[in-house]
Amino acid sequence: MKNKYLFAYLGGAEKAVQKTAFSPVLPEDAFSSLKNEVLRCNSCRLRAGATQVVFGEGNNRARLMFVGEAPGADEDRQGRPFVGAAGKLLDKILAAAKISREEVFITNIIKCRPPRNRMPAKEEVAACLPHLQRQIRLIAPKIIVCLGALATQTLIDDKARVSVVRGQWFERYNARIMATFHPAALLRDASKKRPVWEDIQKIRDEYRLL
Ligand code: SF4
Repeated sequence: MKNKYLFAYLGGAEKAVQKTAFSPVLPEDAFSSLKNEVLRCNSCRLRAGATQVVFGEGNNRARLMFVGEAPGADEDRQGRPFVGAAGKLLDKILAAAKISREEVFITNIIKCRPPRNRMPAKEEVAACLPHLQRQIRLIAPKIIVCLGALATQTLIDDKARVSVVRGQWFERYNARIMATFHPAALLRDASKKRPVWEDIQKIRDEYRLL
């Protein structure tokens, strides 16, 4: 996909010399326009109850991407993903693995907070998933980590259970992809900390090899 934009750019440069109206599209521009488009999205009923769309943040050329479920109250207020209690725990997990938040990209399956943090409905996932798919295409991560059941079932297998598939590598979206428990689940059940740490160590080791 990046080559496509490179070719578009090169083609654009050549055509600019020919004084045509072609405007080159750089990956940065494509990412900014996607972000602007998503921030204005009103494609499902979740937007009406949310303060703002939470696009995601981080390195838009990240080799490692984390995908959670949906914004909660803190994320809705701040417009940033994983900034509440679960986000702080994710920060600690990343720090323990010596991975900085700035070097990865973090987002969710659903970009607007569902009312009372309810599980997003199938049609809401269907409406929002194209945004994530376009993020993945532009960022082109080598590793995707699904945090929790919704990300796992949306990106790996709609029947997958995190407790069964976690810690295993799959291939999706031209990337290696692994599921692990959502940090919010760790806050509720401390026994999930060990398996998550095992998974993160595998992810870190694979990431360091890239
Ligand atoms: S949840 Fe997704 S599809 Fe629905 S309005 Fe928000 S950004 Fe658009």
